Amino acid sequence: MNDTRSKITPATEDSIARAGEIIRAGGLVGLPTETVYGLAADATRPEAVAKIYAAKGRPRFNPLIAHIAALDDAPRLALVSGAGQALIERFWPGPLTLVLPFRPGATVCELARAGLDSVALRMPSHKIARAVIEAAGVPVSAPSANRSGRISATSAADVASELGGSVDLVLDAGQTKIGVESTIVSLLGDKPTLLRAGGLPRAEIEAVLGRPLALAGADDTAPRAPGMMTSHYAPATPVRLEAVEVAADEALLAFGAFRPAGIAQAQAVLNLSAAGDPVEAAANLYRSLRQLDALGARCIAVAPVPEAGLGEAINDRLKRAAAPR
Ligand code: AMP
Ligand code: MG
Repeated sequence: MNDTRSKITPATEDSIARAGEIIRAGGLVGLPTETVYGLAADATRPEAVAKIYAAKGRPRFNPLIAHIAALDDAPRLALVSGAGQALIERFWPGPLTLVLPFRPGATVCELARAGLDSVALRMPSHKIARAVIEAAGVPVSAPSANRSGRISATSAADVASELGGSVDLVLDAGQTKIGVESTIVSLLGDKPTLLRAGGLPRAEIEAVLGRPLALAGADDTAPRAPGMMTSHYAPATPVRLEAVEVAADEALLAFGAFRPAGIAQAQAVLNLSAAGDPVEAAANLYRSLRQLDALGARCIAVAPVPEAGLGEAINDRLKRAAAPR
């Protein structure tokens, strides 16, 4: 307990620089923003992002918001439309997250996007949040710093009691001002859509857009909740799960020490984590599926992955990849 409390440090020039170093090194930082405290990691590195999912105990890899420190970063990471530009000019920095088409080749990793070809971006107004992102020099994934399904953290003490064991440092900048998460607007379809009500009232957004926001799920053209999206990444190669044997024209996605029958003849073998570590496996998941998909094998056979820890989220994604389409 004292150990977790001792990770809290006042936000100073020194501790901000240290937070930036920790993020760059792949660690986790409790980060004050104007909305709630975030659990911050390098959005460009899947092994760092996997630690966020593990620390929060999220049952699924839902996409995370990439936080940026400068307006110029938005067009580097996403395709910004006219409506997007108008909202950015009026409301950034601030509690508005925009979901935009991902710019192909940009740095936010696939795990942070939950495999989607879109990306959620926000530039926080909190000076310390921005200073840390700037010090890190990368876009920063930072979902609320609480265990999944629990109340968001609005103070450094909240972060320590929720996640103390898994964060490397918590910067203390007092109670957050807004205390609820950012408003999320999707600009993916032809109708701007409210995905989450939050710190910025929708009427203000609608005033800038000159039209009402559609509601997610209100009709068939609105984007669904991320976990339900049909655009979720799935390989072109058929995928079969719980494979205990593998054929010569199949590629094997292995896990841990388990060796399915026929493994020596398989067209290719990648192991999500030879050590059987679900955090490492999560970090490797999208990359491995993509590599095996590129081989043009008849099928990707996936060895059983235990449900423990991030295993549940990994299996959720694998089931989607294997679903008939
Ligand atoms: P947070 O937990 O505060 O990081 O918020 C993450 C939420 O942002 C997700 O649960 C989604 O609702 C939304 N989100 C992030 N990225 C996307 C995306 N690419 N497409 C749709 N929604 C997104
Ligand atoms: Mg949350």
